[in-house]
Amino acid sequence: MNRRAFLGAAAAVATLPATDVGESYPTESNSGTGGVTADGADEPAVRECDVCGADQPASMVDRTTVSEIAPLQADICWSCQFVHEHTPRKGTCAQCGDALDEDYPGNGFPIEIEFPLGAAELPAFKSAKLCGDCAAWIASDINHRGVHNDPVADDRHLRLIQTMDARMHDLEADDA
Ligand SMILES: [Zn+2]
Ligand SMILES: [Zn+2]
Repeated sequence: MNRRAFLGAAAAVATLPATDVGESYPTESNSGTGGVTADGADEPAVRECDVCGADQPASMVDRTTVSEIAPLQADICWSCQFVHEHTPRKGTCAQCGDALDEDYPGNGFPIEIEFPLGAAELPAFKSAKLCGDCAAWIASDINHRGVHNDPVADDRHLRLIQTMDARMHDLEADDA
């Protein structure tokens, strides 16, 4: 996935819970700052979130940080704060929520990645523990997409598959 696609997906995901207005997700205690005040007629009603890139109610956007970009601060809406501060339940895969594989040393397959977070491309670092299925899927996805998106390698790969299919066909014909 290229950077533009990544940012588009991140923005779409982060914007989805926008219907949850009225819920108070964040644990931050500074929710009383900003937004509409008695003399706040000049304050903008909406504020752009640096992560999802969308305009959100100004009272629900804080100048704060999340662990992936700390100590850097940015304007981050409550929804994005919630997503990026979420900690998996103990002993579960950070992606699918299944129990981590007990037979792997360290209890789970570690993944670490630096990435540009959100609309503002904030320098971020993520560390997580995944189950075997999720870790394998991600690694395999990188490999296969990497070949597919390299025109020369993709062409060679297709011809290789055709050659394998042809030989397998010959072997089956010999057995018949
Ligand atoms: Zn946001
Ligand atoms: Zn998983």
